[in-house]
Amino acid sequence: MRVTFLGTGTSYGVPMPGCDCATCRSADPRDKRFRTAIRVEAGDVSLLIDTPPDLRSQCLAHGIARIDAALMTHAHADHVFGFDDLRAYTNRMAEPMPVWASAGTAKTLRRIFDYLDQPPIPGTSLARISLRVAEGPFEFRGLRLTPLPAEHGRADMIGWKIEHGGRAFAAIPDCKSLPPETMDLCRGVDLVAIDALRIRPHPTHMNFDEAIAALREIGAQRSLVIHLCHEVAHAQAERLLPAGMAPAYDGLRIDL
Ligand SMILES: [Zn+2]
Ligand SMILES: [Zn+2]
Ligand SMILES: [Zn+2]
Repeated sequence: MRVTFLGTGTSYGVPMPGCDCATCRSADPRDKRFRTAIRVEAGDVSLLIDTPPDLRSQCLAHGIARIDAALMTHAHADHVFGFDDLRAYTNRMAEPMPVWASAGTAKTLRRIFDYLDQPPIPGTSLARISLRVAEGPFEFRGLRLTPLPAEHGRADMIGWKIEHGGRAFAAIPDCKSLPPETMDLCRGVDLVAIDALRIRPHPTHMNFDEAIAALREIGAQRSLVIHLCHEVAHAQAERLLPAGMAPAYDGLRIDL
């Protein structure tokens, strides 16, 4: 299984337009963060977690030739406003692209992208999506995919656990807390990536202390934090995290 972080930033992205703080002016390429999205390649499947507004640029930057399916985490703008960019890939697929989401996220996607429920106009090229509600673990072309419920403000939020060939990766890009069943599902995975927005507390995101505590409990082989805002530079995040934990950065690729 290969995991590529296409974006690791919070909703504003980093740098944030109009900001001249040290992180936003940083020359460290790891301080340039697109909105959070993750690509997973396993077996012969190319999977995408979330469709941020930067998706087109992320696909071009990484030369992504194929996306076979997408897993949505929640319907906040920074995770869904590139949904329409899936069109470039669905155009070349024989069948509509399967996309899984929580019930609440699927409902919001159908409202924002109302063409999902309308018959296509011949000769036009709308994204051809088969939107499905993820109620529990399921199989897709040799992969086991498990939604991971998480608390994130008013969002019907799920992270995702992806298993293939005896390896497991769990990603929860936005969360304030994780219920016991999600902790159990994550425990001992090979790689986990969770929300650590900043050092100060936030009402709907984990800060560094909360993320560190959750990652300790999960006890993965390798632990990463994602969805960082401009209040934390990459080098600073590295110093804040204990041994065995690290900040992800855009372009980071991990083979499991
Ligand atoms: Zn977000
Ligand atoms: Zn800034
Ligand atoms: Zn969110």
